[in-house]
Amino acid sequence: MVLCPECESDLDVEEEELDEGEVVSCAECGMDFEVVGVEPLELAKVQSEEEDEEDEDREEKEDEDY
Ligand SMILES: [Zn+2]
Repeated sequence: MVLCPECESDLDVEEEELDEGEVVSCAECGMDFEVVGVEPLELAKVQSEEEDEEDEDREEKEDEDY
């Protein structure tokens, strides 16, 4: 049994059947996770492209001279 790193509910996949690079979705919180390692199993959040622009705004403000 594999647990969602985000909400800890059962992802309903077998750990032995996962390969690196595979993406699993959590039915509970809707997040997607990529398998970045299998021994031990490691899941990484798949970032949605929508979030990119917000970060750029913040960087510009920090650029003023101190
Ligand atoms: Zn979840």
